[in-house]
Amino acid sequence: MLDKVKVVLVGTSHSGNIGSAARAMKVMGLSNLVLVDPQCEVDGQALALAAGASDIAENAVVVSTLDEAVSDCGLVVGSSARSRTLEWPMLEPRECGEMFASEGLKHPVAIVFGRERTGLTNEELQKCHYHVCIPANPEYSSLNLAMAVQTLSYEIRVAHLNREQAQYSAEQVAEYPRHKELEMFYDHLEKVMIDTQFISKEQPGQVLNKLRRLFSRARPEAQEINILRGVLTAIEKQNKGVK
Ligand code: SAH
Repeated sequence: MLDKVKVVLVGTSHSGNIGSAARAMKVMGLSNLVLVDPQCEVDGQALALAAGASDIAENAVVVSTLDEAVSDCGLVVGSSARSRTLEWPMLEPRECGEMFASEGLKHPVAIVFGRERTGLTNEELQKCHYHVCIPANPEYSSLNLAMAVQTLSYEIRVAHLNREQAQYSAEQVAEYPRHKELEMFYDHLEKVMIDTQFISKEQPGQVLNKLRRLFSRARPEAQEINILRGVLTAIEKQNKGVK
């Protein structure tokens, strides 16, 4: 299960944080580090802070977008210290760990961390099924990036150890669509909503984001997404007939 967990760092600017995050991961048994558009190199500073986990920092996969980083994942959770304007389904760190421990038996899962200064953008956060917030001091709630990685990796490990004892199996986990399938569904939905003039291409408003939030809350299974894709295709066919 721990091999299926991806730790995704978006736009990191201090190489030391990459090293410290690698170390935080390795002590908890995690090894898949993905860097999205890093603003620094994995340099001597990173390797010094990684200590015995320099292999994880050196083997980090570098990609340019969050979509690429999580396209094969069935569960994507974004971590954020702040609550955003558009509220999103939230997880406590413990629940997040438990969800990873169970779903990680079935498909790749990703936990996403933001930039040191500005965190994750709203657009990035809206690509996640859930958000997780470490309930820190409300007057000073922003942890150092690597420490946030440590805290959430620890919760994943504890939940994993509990699961191992209880001997759960992958069969008990539903088949969820992967991130890229969900994104294809959202693209299809947007296209049909524009074609049917439910929304205008020029001024789409917040409708699609609100629908993303609805589907994040509902967590449709792979088969349900296929049904919805079928409905959209049927509407498109009908629409063509009318035109
Ligand atoms: N100033 C930024 C915080 C950046 S800290 C902001 O307000 O968003 C860097 C990253 O560490 C964050 O993007 C988040 O992924 C993680 N992080 C820091 N504190 C956290 C907290 N209390 N709960 C969850 N994640 C946190």
